[in-house]
Amino acid sequence: MLRRMSTYSGQKLATVVKELENFAPIAWAEKWDNVGLLIEPHREKQIQRILLTNDLTEPVMSEALAKDVQLIISYHPPIFRPLTRITRTNWKERVVAACLANDVALYSPHTAWDKACGGVNDWLSRALSKIISIRPLEPELGAPPGTGSGRYIETKLELSQVVDSLQRHIENSVHVALAVGHQPKTIIQSVGICAGSGASLLKNVQADLIITGEMSHHELLDFTHNNTSVLLCNHSNSERGFLKGFSSKLSELLQGACEVLVSDADKDPLVTVAKATIEEQNVFVDCYKQ
Ligand SMILES: [Zn+2]
Repeated sequence: MLRRMSTYSGQKLATVVKELENFAPIAWAEKWDNVGLLIEPHREKQIQRILLTNDLTEPVMSEALAKDVQLIISYHPPIFRPLTRITRTNWKERVVAACLANDVALYSPHTAWDKACGGVNDWLSRALSKIISIRPLEPELGAPPGTGSGRYIETKLELSQVVDSLQRHIENSVHVALAVGHQPKTIIQSVGICAGSGASLLKNVQADLIITGEMSHHELLDFTHNNTSVLLCNHSNSERGFLKGFSSKLSELLQGACEVLVSDADKDPLVTVAKATIEEQNVFVDCYKQ
């Protein structure tokens, strides 16, 4: 395998972890979450190259090894429920085995990044081209102002303008569930936002519009019957875009000693197929035949 030559002096793993926890202390994460340093290599290596990803899938793991990274930062924790064995039968076990065999460290911030000021929910909120005010839906006690779960935003935009700007922000299709009486020209004055799967946090929020990644059919019905429209952009699409801006921030925090890459292989497992042409539909039929 061709290894890249590195011109970066690197940092100790402990120093990188300290900077990550200065940005978003793991104490901010939800109690049910599994965050922080999840894999610490037996043989400590200087961290010269870091890969940021939303999900540590097997294609991303292959990319990490091909790019010779010493640390993977996976927003979602690849180890969540306790592993009772590490075999080759399950993809998550294979990913953990690959990290261990190659001395690659693994860090996961998840809900700590959701709550951080300038974190994932603040990134998603920037989809709105006009923000009159913004605050966390549930502030984090004892943390700096602006820290907490979800966001509540006052704005003044037509619904269609929000749809357009959200599509541009995440560069992907957006599913729209319209509340009774809402039209593309309806003026939206309040928005509840939660990256990922936000229905439980958002369910009692009184807002004209909800933006999150995914929601069940029945949760959608509850919102639309409460005169709240909903925009869904698929789970990880509501999170992944944060990584690009964070890669420069982390590089700065580490004073340029490490190269910070964003995964090319990381993507949402759902693809929205809109207005497929007859030819494209035939391609799908061919795929299914194989
Ligand atoms: Zn998520």
